[in-house]
Amino acid sequence: MSLDSEFAFELRVCQWAEREWSPARGDSTVLVARQLGTRYRRWDTLVLECDPDGLGARGAFGTGSFDSDQLHVLRHAPADWTFYRDTLPDPGYPWRYVRESVHELAGRDALDTRKRGNRIEIRRRRPYPDWCRRVVAIENKPDLTASAARDLAGQLERDVALGLADEVWVATEATDDAVEPVLLADFPTETGVLTVDTDAGTAESVWEPRSLDADGYGTRITERPDDDYSAARFDYVDPAWKAEKRRAIAERAYERGWRSYADTMRPDCRCFELRADETGVAPHCVAKGRTPTQRECRGGCDSFAPEPPTWRTKGWPIEGGPGAATKRLLARQRRARRPGLDGESRQ
Ligand code: SF4
Repeated sequence: MSLDSEFAFELRVCQWAEREWSPARGDSTVLVARQLGTRYRRWDTLVLECDPDGLGARGAFGTGSFDSDQLHVLRHAPADWTFYRDTLPDPGYPWRYVRESVHELAGRDALDTRKRGNRIEIRRRRPYPDWCRRVVAIENKPDLTASAARDLAGQLERDVALGLADEVWVATEATDDAVEPVLLADFPTETGVLTVDTDAGTAESVWEPRSLDADGYGTRITERPDDDYSAARFDYVDPAWKAEKRRAIAERAYERGWRSYADTMRPDCRCFELRADETGVAPHCVAKGRTPTQRECRGGCDSFAPEPPTWRTKGWPIEGGPGAATKRLLARQRRARRPGLDGESRQ
């Protein structure tokens, strides 16, 4: 059975990866997220292969993510009280932004601060761990036609040249026919290809990827002419830039996971259900008889039928109606993949 949307397919890929992904190091813990990346590139599915101890230590900071500026402070915060400008490396941007990050981190109990005269001293609460070992990017293309493959090829070339992820894959829906080799001819050979059986919730690698040099220099292709005569334009990016981006991506993946779709859909609509089968749990719209897309499932939907207000008041039946319960359930499942979180989220 073919799924109705790329969104439904993407959820299947995320579920499969969470269950079945084989990390490069057998002792790694797998975290899955969707729709994340940089200003220049957003990936459909991300698989993070994590150091289990590091992931547990990361959990002590709570579920909320830290941005690049905050990470700069956290990673270099000293064990003993020190004036922040004496201890942090020059950030390469004005120190007032560093001060803002210091205050934000103190507000989240991630850093100790105190004032000595007009100087702000900082002290770490705990070391920020290197918790993400590898980043794997998956582009989902359920219907891999010849033109879709051609459209995707340029983007994959950029991904491979930049090497921000350790591996790049394309996932497509399994059909009765084998994937035509001609469809893959345009893809860089470093890109892996997965075929996903959406009925069984399984996936098979039909082309293995090559590991990219995520720790080395990368090339950002800024212009790629269509003709054979003009040269491509590109910039080099250094390993420090890539490491910073990878850490920030990992942080956002940590916070969001792949179940955050409920935050932008309408689980408070009477037609919204979570349905489970052997492939996992997915949102289902009773009115449409299928998984709705995030674009469809909004207050402006023609079939939107809000929960009666009484369901949402006086803690009915326990702290709100089914919409709130759905969000709590998904948040609980997301938290279950993140060891080391104590009690409720601090963010
Ligand atoms: S009827 Fe519309 S708003 Fe309600 S669950 Fe279906 S798609 Fe979402």
